[in-house]
Amino acid sequence: MSHEFPSPALSPATVTVASGRPAREQGGPVNPPVVLTSTNVSSGEPAPGELLYGRIDSASWHPFEQVLGELERSRHPALVFGSGMASIAAAFSLVPPGGRLVLPRHCYQVTLGYAADLAQREGVEVVLVDIDDTDAVLAALPGTSMLWIESPTNPMLEVADLPVLIEAAHAAGALVGVDNTFATPLVQRPLTLGADVVIHSVTKYLAGHSDVVLGAALSDDDDLHTRLHAYRTLHGSIAGPFEVWLALRGVRTLALRVERAQANAAELARRLSSHPAVAAVRHPSLPDDPGHERAARLMDGFGAIIGLRPHGGASAADAVVDAVRLWVPATSLGGVESSMERRRRFATESLTVPDDLLRLSVGIEDVDDLWADLSAALDASVR
Ligand SMILES: *Cc1c(COP(=O)(O)O)cnc(C)c1O
Repeated sequence: MSHEFPSPALSPATVTVASGRPAREQGGPVNPPVVLTSTNVSSGEPAPGELLYGRIDSASWHPFEQVLGELERSRHPALVFGSGMASIAAAFSLVPPGGRLVLPRHCYQVTLGYAADLAQREGVEVVLVDIDDTDAVLAALPGTSMLWIESPTNPMLEVADLPVLIEAAHAAGALVGVDNTFATPLVQRPLTLGADVVIHSVTKYLAGHSDVVLGAALSDDDDLHTRLHAYRTLHGSIAGPFEVWLALRGVRTLALRVERAQANAAELARRLSSHPAVAAVRHPSLPDDPGHERAARLMDGFGAIIGLRPHGGASAADAVVDAVRLWVPATSLGGVESSMERRRRFATESLTVPDDLLRLSVGIEDVDDLWADLSAALDASVR
């Protein structure tokens, strides 16, 4: 690689474009190759870091792992995994059997499902908290093995006081893991605040085009980095070379996409606040949003997910999803295309998530086209 690692002098937008390139040589490629090999030439005792076998390490992962490591300002490159859930499983492997895991009540529902599985199989004590209620989180910390944080939360958009929670968790002897999928490293870098592990569903903003499922985990700590790597190798929860190449291609435009999606989301949230069919809207950009002050202070942006509750309950919410023509009715988020879903259509979604809550993932289309489609669907739903 032609750039020193990490490169703190470069701004994140530049890192997304400039890092993870092959060494410069006359006639050489500008982009890293996709290397399709399961094994590498090797005899005798392998040297440290030598490529040996495709489940342990792959040259095709390195450019993406380097760029994400630099974006999160990590001392180590990221570790790419086969999905966001695979990286969460690796992080949760740091919770010992019989340990205590504190989680946001409204974090990603499959994360909650995995925690419940750990409770059953390994006797892990799972404690759910409102992550934006700092006092409640602090009260839950004694005896905790790991505090898991999502901020903003999926799908309720609660904003956590990351620096305070991380410091208090460490004082209580707990590890801190942060799912940074919603914010992206452009908006928030939890490792720089002392978080022990950060994970991403690369599927979402980092890859950004709804065409791959991929994850990543990072740690500044040598021992934790080694354990996460060992977990990936032992469980074989690895990514394919093409998928990682696509994720790197997606990261090249991350700064533009996030900037545009956030601007669109803030404008749509503002317009939704005064739409007669809207009962409630949540986006941290709104001055009266419960997470606004904290997000303005702690984050470099407000994200591009909106929570929307139309008047008329779940059936009205379903009617909005059925009426939109430009917005895509679909689960997942963070793609270039705007999409929406009613979260409680899943029986597994937390019952404290309102039945009528629509989660909007705002993409990079023209904001007036998005508004025309959305407001027409809302108008039709209240009739
Ligand atoms: C989608 C998502 C995940 C899971 O990632 P996959 O890539 O689908 O396995 C985890 N956390 C959050 C916040 C997500 O949105």
